[in-house]
Formats: sequence, structure tokens, C-alpha cells
Amino acid sequence: MFGLSGKVALVTGASRGIGRATAEALAAQGAHVVINYVRGEEEARRVVQAIEERGGKAEALGFDVADMQATDEAIAALAKRLGRVDILVANAGIAVDNLVLRVKEEEIDRVFAVNVKGAIGCARAVIKPMMRARAGRIVFLSSIVGEMGNAGQAVYAASKAALLGLSKTLAREYASRSITVNVVAPGFIDTDMTSSLGAEVKEGMLKAIPLGRTGKPEEVAAAVVFLCSDAASYITGETIRVNGGMYM
Ligand code: NAD
Repeated sequence: MFGLSGKVALVTGASRGIGRATAEALAAQGAHVVINYVRGEEEARRVVQAIEERGGKAEALGFDVADMQATDEAIAALAKRLGRVDILVANAGIAVDNLVLRVKEEEIDRVFAVNVKGAIGCARAVIKPMMRARAGRIVFLSSIVGEMGNAGQAVYAASKAALLGLSKTLAREYASRSITVNVVAPGFIDTDMTSSLGAEVKEGMLKAIPLGRTGKPEEVAAAVVFLCSDAASYITGETIRVNGGMYM
């Protein structure tokens, strides 16, 4: 039901965290997974190795999603070489935590360049081969804070909210080509991105999670795999929240 044999899946920012777990989960379903990274080449190669050791197919592909020309060139070359790109998981993202009065202009530019322009650039590049194939799956990694806001995360929350409008618009634009576009919005997941949060902040968050614990990257990956599979063929423009009930 969730089988992805013969499919090519590109996961951005896949050398660690949610991206890595998603790449591994897609490979476990039989997809040939392309592990995008920007700086963590060694880490990306280790993900490829881990997938191959389990009998899966994977390769590493370095490019900065904030660089539209590099993104276009890398994805066009990939589509030419493999003949297809069936799945995009736009996962690469960065967070800047600061009150809006303190945040620097260059921080706003960087967060939007990676989280928003990066997602648009990757989607635009994969839509070309997907239109030719008259099929495709795009999943954007947004965040719980894009829907509910969070004091101290104005810029990050704004960038993640942008992905909701982007996905619904692309869902409408490419539905006629059987390309579905959806969002997964994680809550508080144990990764490098959240490891720097102070004990007090973490404790406060745990109190607000009905399931009483943080999430695992694999639990986010499971929702992504579902949206990329045939089982989700009639779902587009939707958001799946993976947050332990923190926001309903
Ligand atoms: P992470 O920091 O562990 O991983 C992010 C990955 O993106 C890294 O591998 C990083 O190298 C890559 N990346 C950053 N800039 C890039 C660029 N310009 N080009 C290519 N790759 C780039 O974070 P994570 O927790 O695994 O988060 C993954 C996604 O999920 C992010 O979009 C994040 O905003 C979102 N998210 C995470 C949480 C959480 O609690 N961890 C919650 C909600 C949403």
C-alpha cells in the first residue's frame, strides 16, 4: 500500500534529523532516494551507506537550496540522469529564535532564503519532470508554529506559514497533472534543531503536549511516506500535523 519501488525521491537537508529519517523511511519502501545536503557531505554519505546496508538505493547530492540557480541546475541534471523525479520532500530549514524587535535584517533574509525561496525553487525545478510524467508528490515541512505562532519565533513562524499558502496554491495549479502537494507540520521533535533549547523551555513545552512527550523524527517521516504513497492519491492541499496533540 505504501510501496515506492521504481520511484525517485529527492529529500532536501537529508543528512540528519527529520530529513534523514524521511530518506530512510522512503528507501525502506523501495524508493531510490537522493540525499541533498549543503555542508554535511560526510553525514550525507553515511546516510547513503546506512540505506545501502539495508538493501536500499540512495545517493548524495550537494546543493544550497537558497541558491536558485544551483538548485535548478542540480535538479535538471538529476532528472536527466535518472529520467524522473517522482517525489520532493522540501525539508531543509533553519530557525532563528529572537524577539522581532531584536532580529537582524540579514537573519530575516537568510531564514526566508532557505525556508521559503528554497522550497519554491525546489518545487519549481521538480514540477518540470513531474508535469512530463503527469504524476508527482511534493511535501513541504512546515511547523506547528506556522499555524499557532510562538513568542520569540516571529521570523521562523512567518516562513513556515508561507509554506501553507505555497502548498495550497501549487496543489491547485498542478492538480490537473496529478501532482499532489501537501504539508507535514511537526510539533516538538527531538533533533539538532531543538537540542539547544533550554531545560525550562523544554519543560514548558512538554506540559502543553497531550501525549506528554516529544516526537521522534521517524514519527514525522511516517506521515511523509503516507503522503508520498499511492494510499494518499486523493489528498492534496492538506496539512498533516504530527505534534502529539499540542495544536489541534
Ligand atoms: P535539522 O537542523 O536537524 O536539519 C535541517 C537540515 O537542513 C540540515 O541537514 C541542514 O544542513 C539542512 N539545511 C539547512 N540549510 C540548507 C540549505 N540552504 N540547503 C540545503 N540544506 C540545508 O532540523 P530538523 O529538526 O531535522 O528539521 C527539519 C525540518 O523540519 C525543518 O524544515 C524544520 O523547520 C522542520 N521542523 C522541525 C521541528 C523540530 O522540532 N525539530 C519542528 C517543526 C518543524
